[in-house]
Amino acid sequence: MSSIYKGKCLCGTTTYVSTGAPINPHLCSCTMCQRSSGAPTVAWLAFNLKDFSWGSDSELGLYRSSETTQRCFCKRCGSFMGALNDGCTSISITIASLENPNLVIPGPHHSYEESAPSWWKTTLLRDISHKAPSPTQKISVRPSVHEDIQAMVRLSKEKRLSYEKVQPTFWRYAGPKAEVAQTTWFETLLTRDDIIMLTATDENHTIVGFIIGQLTKAPDVYDPLGLTLLVDDFCVAHEHDWDSIGGKFLQTIKDLAREKGATQAVIVCGAHDIPKRNVLHSNGFNVTSEWFVKNF
Ligand SMILES: [Zn+2]
Ligand SMILES: [Zn+2]
Repeated sequence: MSSIYKGKCLCGTTTYVSTGAPINPHLCSCTMCQRSSGAPTVAWLAFNLKDFSWGSDSELGLYRSSETTQRCFCKRCGSFMGALNDGCTSISITIASLENPNLVIPGPHHSYEESAPSWWKTTLLRDISHKAPSPTQKISVRPSVHEDIQAMVRLSKEKRLSYEKVQPTFWRYAGPKAEVAQTTWFETLLTRDDIIMLTATDENHTIVGFIIGQLTKAPDVYDPLGLTLLVDDFCVAHEHDWDSIGGKFLQTIKDLAREKGATQAVIVCGAHDIPKRNVLHSNGFNVTSEWFVKNF
């Protein structure tokens, strides 16, 4: 059974069609969504790019709103219609731009709900989003295997390139030789008993994130009465995914680490990486230390 979803802008010039089903319908109240749409909350879905096309007469405009994301709008009437993450196999589309927005109900996931204007955080909004069926996109988290490594190295590189812009020395991307070294390093980690490596895949089996934790013993003076799970490498493919995938990763790695005797987790996060920080905060993590870096 194939489904066809059509959408259009306010003036009708820019149109699209998808022959594939919507993925991960959800709400987002991040400040960028608010500013680009002029609405307090945007309802999103995604379509696989292989199923998706813009109408041939469309006057599509693209605005680069972040290092990795472009926002899509109609150049004639200005309607805000979507967002495109670099290298992503899907495109995010505003549910309100569908010809029939009743066809897709956002799931319970509401990104950056806390950023919505206070008058908007109504009981009604919560009721609507929590009553809706769960998202159609199925994210699975499983132990990493050798075949995942190439995708993990690629995600790692993308993260590095975006972090590098914030702190060029500390987060410097060392070029292709670093990728070779990291491939070898990940291969080694896969064989170690003190390492937990997990991979997230979407319903198309695309790798959308990974986490690597090391079980370490704290010095006796600091002994937290068990092992510490130290997580340095922890990436997702798209910033928008931190909320849904990040929480699943944290829960799964916590369960596995506890079985192996861990009593706490320490997770490294770039100071500027707001989506990742938010997911850590919302999963009960507190900032206990900060690194101050200066170039000489
Ligand atoms: Zn238009
Ligand atoms: Zn947003």
